[in-house]
Amino acid sequence: MTTTRREVLGWLAGLGAAASFLPREANAYTRVTALRGATLVDSSGVRPNTTIVLADDKVLAIGHDLPLPRGSTVLDVAGKFVIPGLWDMHVHGAFLDRITLPLCLVNGVTGIREMWGFPPIYELRERIERGEVLGPRLVVGSSIIDGPHSTLPGALIVNTPDEGRQAVRDAKTQGADFVKVYSYLDLATLTAIADECARQAITFAGHCSNHVPLGDASDLGQRTFEHMYGLSLATSTRETQLRQAIADLPLDPANSFAWFKRVLEFERQAALTHSSPKAVRLAKRLQRNNSALCPTMVAMRVYASPADRFANDPRMKYMPVFYRDLWRDQLTNWAPVTQQEIRQQAEFFRRRQEQVAEMHDHGVEVLVGTDAGNPYSFSGFSVHDELELLVEAGLSPKAALKSATRNASVRPGDAVNLVVLDGNPLKDIRNTQRVHTVLARGKVLGPAERQKMLADVEKAAQEPFPAPQQTCC
Ligand SMILES: [Zn+2]
Repeated sequence: MTTTRREVLGWLAGLGAAASFLPREANAYTRVTALRGATLVDSSGVRPNTTIVLADDKVLAIGHDLPLPRGSTVLDVAGKFVIPGLWDMHVHGAFLDRITLPLCLVNGVTGIREMWGFPPIYELRERIERGEVLGPRLVVGSSIIDGPHSTLPGALIVNTPDEGRQAVRDAKTQGADFVKVYSYLDLATLTAIADECARQAITFAGHCSNHVPLGDASDLGQRTFEHMYGLSLATSTRETQLRQAIADLPLDPANSFAWFKRVLEFERQAALTHSSPKAVRLAKRLQRNNSALCPTMVAMRVYASPADRFANDPRMKYMPVFYRDLWRDQLTNWAPVTQQEIRQQAEFFRRRQEQVAEMHDHGVEVLVGTDAGNPYSFSGFSVHDELELLVEAGLSPKAALKSATRNASVRPGDAVNLVVLDGNPLKDIRNTQRVHTVLARGKVLGPAERQKMLADVEKAAQEPFPAPQQTCC
């Protein structure tokens, strides 16, 4: 059913509202959909028995017992809960568009930040924006910039501050939404990257370099810090000593991975000597600089667990077959093996969770990210696992939900990205897993449509996919 713009405007005038975002032509038809009777839960609060009126892909009005324009389609969602669309702020694998995009949408994830960009993904972003491909909104990073060495095969290596500047300019030209930085950059190069980012009006985000303290990188303007890297070091009473040990660590370029693993061991030791006063000072700094933490606990938990702990996850059926081997091989390098290692890593993970909650308590923004594409982190699904882990860490369900929705509240004029849940997420965060309907760019994905999308992904996952050139954090 459709309604003309004139009718919609007349209806809005009756409400004492106006909308500048409707199509221009008075006789243009608009598809008006109304969600009726749900409890709206967003960052502005909880609004029971709400009617949300949508015109095509925009929110038109929100209120109690609203009369509806003629020709509206009504979705009775009484007793259900509506939240803003979820964001996964740390994703890999957008290029597997027939897997990643539908898995995000069926799980209510209507926006993702892809952390390793390359031109075909910039193109995919545009095709989604133009409505040619159904998918979540994409924010896409540059190539991963690291150097002069990197633990990451395929990273874009910069050897000098000038090469760092050039990498930023290239990222901007290619169409990246932000610059992704990595673990080995030194202070001079990171400073040059930061300065060039400011000149080019682009942000930078990524790993905390092992050569630059987290607070210093934040002062330079680094927007987000991934995987909790650098946090334990920056809040340890032994920071100076451990940083010196990292600086002195020999690097074998043929096996830089071993170096990375040694650094993580120093981080683990740092976590044993945590200083709350240091943490509070660091939190103030991050807050002042508008830097956020994207802890990707769901991925870090896998690396902190025995290699087979998650191998039989039933969601494996949605993953292309090559992931089975890839993930198993990736974990053999990382996973703890002996009882002592397993205990130590579990303890390290728990301490890192506490550190994130502590930073959050002191005002630092925390973002939900999954590192999807890394072992046993599943596109879309793992956003809900991360929400559980954030609550386990000590965030309230309300705070966790804010982390997953970028603090959004639903307002007239917004693009329609909404999730209808069968249970109250504020009562139990696991209720975000009870997705009933997803509205993405105004497209309504009800239970039957979502089932079909999942079945299609399962089928697509059986087809031979070329192994990706790029995975990993
Ligand atoms: Zn990553």
